[in-house]
Amino acid sequence: MADYTSLLRELPAVDRLLREPAIEEVSKPLPRSLVVQAVQEIIDSYRQYISEHRADQSALDKLSLKPESLAREAAMLADKKAAMNIKPLINATGVVIHTNLGRAPLPSAAIEALKAVAGNYNNLEFNLQNGRRGSRQDHLEDIICELTGSEAAIVLNNNAAAVFLALNELAAGRDVVVSRGQLVEIGGSFRIPEIMAASGARLIEVGTTNKTYLRDYESAVTENSAAFLKVHTSNYQMVGFTAEVETEELADLAHKHNLVMIEDLGSGVLLDLEKYKLPFEPKVQDSISAGADLITFSGDKMLGGPQAGIIVGRKDLIRYIRTNQLARTLRIDKFTVAALEATLRLYYDEDKAISEIPVWRMLTADAGYLKNRAENLASRFSAIFGADNVKVIPGISRVGGGALPNAELPTSIVSVALDASFGPPETFTEKLRNGNPPIILRLQQNCLLFDPRTIFENQEDRLIETVLFCTNYFRNE
Ligand SMILES: *Cc1c(COP(=O)(O)O)cnc(C)c1O
Repeated sequence: MADYTSLLRELPAVDRLLREPAIEEVSKPLPRSLVVQAVQEIIDSYRQYISEHRADQSALDKLSLKPESLAREAAMLADKKAAMNIKPLINATGVVIHTNLGRAPLPSAAIEALKAVAGNYNNLEFNLQNGRRGSRQDHLEDIICELTGSEAAIVLNNNAAAVFLALNELAAGRDVVVSRGQLVEIGGSFRIPEIMAASGARLIEVGTTNKTYLRDYESAVTENSAAFLKVHTSNYQMVGFTAEVETEELADLAHKHNLVMIEDLGSGVLLDLEKYKLPFEPKVQDSISAGADLITFSGDKMLGGPQAGIIVGRKDLIRYIRTNQLARTLRIDKFTVAALEATLRLYYDEDKAISEIPVWRMLTADAGYLKNRAENLASRFSAIFGADNVKVIPGISRVGGGALPNAELPTSIVSVALDASFGPPETFTEKLRNGNPPIILRLQQNCLLFDPRTIFENQEDRLIETVLFCTNYFRNE
């Protein structure tokens, strides 16, 4: 019977464990400091366990402090420490633009452009024609203008930055009129009232939560008014007894009073969604032709590119924004320039945009194709879980990313019922989440739901292997 003080004495020292074969093995490829840290942590965790269980003799009796086994644990921990923290994963949720999962996966053209620029010198701010200093915006502005019909454009770190800088430049110390129905929060840290306060603009709320009329805006105009701001209520929808003012009417009213009309479109769609049987969503081009002076939108939502905030609109206003002292703090880097330029170029050919931008390929995926993929996956899962536990059922995928909150994209889902041998379903999904690669999915009662819409075809083999690996873990417990 080992008492607690003798167990503490028995704990191997760091140097002792470092001489174990398992540790010498991982020390070859891994940085020494990580290995030492892992060994130290394993020893510490045993020391703590022993102290905490000093009154629990049966727990102490079960403890094995063999150097080989501690070394094996430390080696596993060292491997884990040496692995990348951010990594690719499999999104089986069916949410196409998933902010927590990195939003839009990039098209190959953007990845190639990134790779080409990343390890080389490049003309980020160098004009090759005249050999003088250039602007990083020059690579993007003409393309954005051609695609949207705008006369000028600037690209910043994200859409929050775009809204912030536009307000700061054009309305700091002055009033900006916003409908009470549009004082939204997007993703926790972006709230219209807060971003306005930070920009120095004063928020003047008009209308009510459900109804705001043109006359509400008009009666709020004073000497101190600078702009009307219209915000796309991306992530929620009002139904029932509601009224909002259209962009065109609001722009006309703004111009009548010499004010600027700013529209935060959120997602920023360049293609006609209805053509692809998706719910209507205003295009950036529509807001330009409706007369909005400045329009802001994200690069990594429905545009399908890298994180960025794009402002399009009047040349004079965009010139002011460019020279704002804060523009540099919000500027994009060479990676964004490269990835965004390559993504935008795909839009010159609409068919290419649809087939090569993953977000669009997923949004427009055909029902028959999704069903086929689901059935194919189901037959592979049947071999693991038994055919009785695997079904293909109709389901709904979501656009996500605070876009088209009510859009229901019909899909085919593979539903896998977990029997009791796998323990609580949450334990199983936790194992999948920690798989290599991690698998993120929805759970409904005891069923794992896999939506093929957001699973890339070339991930299917790894998906099956990883699920099999997790089931083996539980079966061998
Ligand atoms: C998503 C969104 C934002 C924030 O955009 P980011 O690119 O995430 O900074 C702002 N406004 C609206 C309406 C949005 O939908």
